[in-house]
Amino acid sequence: MPIYEYSCKHCGAKFEVLTTIDKRDDVVCKNCGEKVSRVYNGKCSFGANACGKDGCGGNCASCAGCHH
Ligand SMILES: [Zn+2]
Repeated sequence: MPIYEYSCKHCGAKFEVLTTIDKRDDVVCKNCGEKVSRVYNGKCSFGANACGKDGCGGNCASCAGCHH
């Protein structure tokens, strides 16, 4: 199973979770129970042009052209 990194916008906690692709978007914060966002470390698969000149800036959550 892959490890995904998450950050909680509610309490600021950051943590890693070992989960499946099916459940990776169902993770909640270990600290406060709020829904968390995945942190993306990789570059956009479609290249910088798909995400602006700075790429995804480490966060592809709002990037429609990203494979993460
Ligand atoms: Zn939290």
